Amino acid sequence: LDTVYTLESLHVDVFVVRDAEAGVPALVANHVGANVSVLSAGEAHVSHPTQGLLDALTILQHKKRCDGLAVAIVGDIRHSRVARSVWHALATLGVGELRLVAPPALMPDKGEFAGCVRHENIEQGIAGADVVMMLRIQQERMQGAFFPSVREYFNLFGMTEARVRLARPDVIIMHPGPMNRGVEIASEVADGKYSVILEQVANGVAVRMAVLYLLAGGVEHEAAA
Ligand code: ASP
Repeated sequence: LDTVYTLESLHVDVFVVRDAEAGVPALVANHVGANVSVLSAGEAHVSHPTQGLLDALTILQHKKRCDGLAVAIVGDIRHSRVARSVWHALATLGVGELRLVAPPALMPDKGEFAGCVRHENIEQGIAGADVVMMLRIQQERMQGAFFPSVREYFNLFGMTEARVRLARPDVIIMHPGPMNRGVEIASEVADGKYSVILEQVANGVAVRMAVLYLLAGGVEHEAAA
């Protein structure tokens, strides 16, 4: 908190907070003045709001709508702040169907992700999907072995060209980065024509500029323009 008070005394308008511990954005927000904004840039496994927004933007740019879409999130959902914020954003926008695809050990607890359909088989989970969102295997958030080997994980849950063909022909493949090539995604898919991964990165700049603009007192219709 001394660091926060010191920076506040330097007339900081916005704190952008990223931390491996849960609760830090709220802690900072509860100790700064009402004129100071706090933006979470990734809170442990809990949330990553601007990632959720930039993923929603990327989907809307390609699909023009959210209702009626089948979106599959595949991988380490249990430890993923990205998945939690994407769920929040897409549920708010009225997504047609949100599927969680993971081995049992990487599924979130039962009470989480209300309204999502869970699949432990990737072939079923991505069948006919409009959007497939791959997640990074997060060794750093796992205590203990959640699956026997990287090779086995890739065989059972890795996104390959053959699996992409199970989704809709105009599917988009997403990943928040950084990717573990050969673990959750094959290079042929990461670099393939369905991949919008680098567009997600570029959209991150626009989304974060817009959020900072609004937090700093900008007007919404000007931000949209
Ligand atoms: N790679 C993304 C980011 O740096 C996702 C994450 O951190 O969870 O924001």
